[in-house]
Amino acid sequence: MTETTPTTREPDPLEFDKPRVSIRKPEHRFDSQGEAPDAVRVERAMNSFVRDFGRTAAVYMESCIHCGMCAEACHFYEVTQDPKYTPIWKLEPFKQAYKREYGPFAFVYRVLNLKPKVTVDELQQWQHLLYDSCTVCGRCSLMCPMGIDIASLVSQARHGMFKAGLVPHELAAVTERARREGSPLGATPKVFADRCEWLSDEHDVEITIDKPRRKCCAPCPRSRS
Ligand code: SF4
Ligand code: SF4
Repeated sequence: MTETTPTTREPDPLEFDKPRVSIRKPEHRFDSQGEAPDAVRVERAMNSFVRDFGRTAAVYMESCIHCGMCAEACHFYEVTQDPKYTPIWKLEPFKQAYKREYGPFAFVYRVLNLKPKVTVDELQQWQHLLYDSCTVCGRCSLMCPMGIDIASLVSQARHGMFKAGLVPHELAAVTERARREGSPLGATPKVFADRCEWLSDEHDVEITIDKPRRKCCAPCPRSRS
């Protein structure tokens, strides 16, 4: 009897060990990329936050009057009634970094330690708030009486998380695929050529992709009837 050796398979970049959020029993986890020590991750995130603090972000950070109106605009807060899903709360470490590193009284905040340094634990916990509980829909921005564009600040905060290597696995995987293959969906040049050939057959139009500066306009099916 011949023994069969089990075949090992290269894991797909989009595979991950367990779901980020379980519906039956809510369980949040964070993902991390690379082997950077905690202090380096925090430093990279802070550098990115500070770089993104333009004049507009600074005005937003100083303008919040804590009225809570943005909470009722957010579907995550509305469904859970959990204060941690209040939109402006999702920006807390960003705000902490602003006050301590960039704001007009940053020196005072640092010397008196009125705003402690952001820790890697906070960044890890923050991943759930920034990615799993914000669709960047912009409803909170529309509701804010002070005109604070919370959604754009969430997007800026995500830059820092990327620099720190603390983004959800799935996003890191599609980014890696885009870097490696030129497309986040794995649309390689061969897939593109096959697709053009299919379109060409389907709409009975010549699509030339191997010659420079060729123009192609697929006719609208209705205009051909
Ligand atoms: S609605 Fe605007 S001012 Fe009010 S708490 Fe939210 S971000 Fe702050
Ligand atoms: S942008 Fe994010 S925080 Fe604001 S309402 Fe939409 S999901 Fe909620």
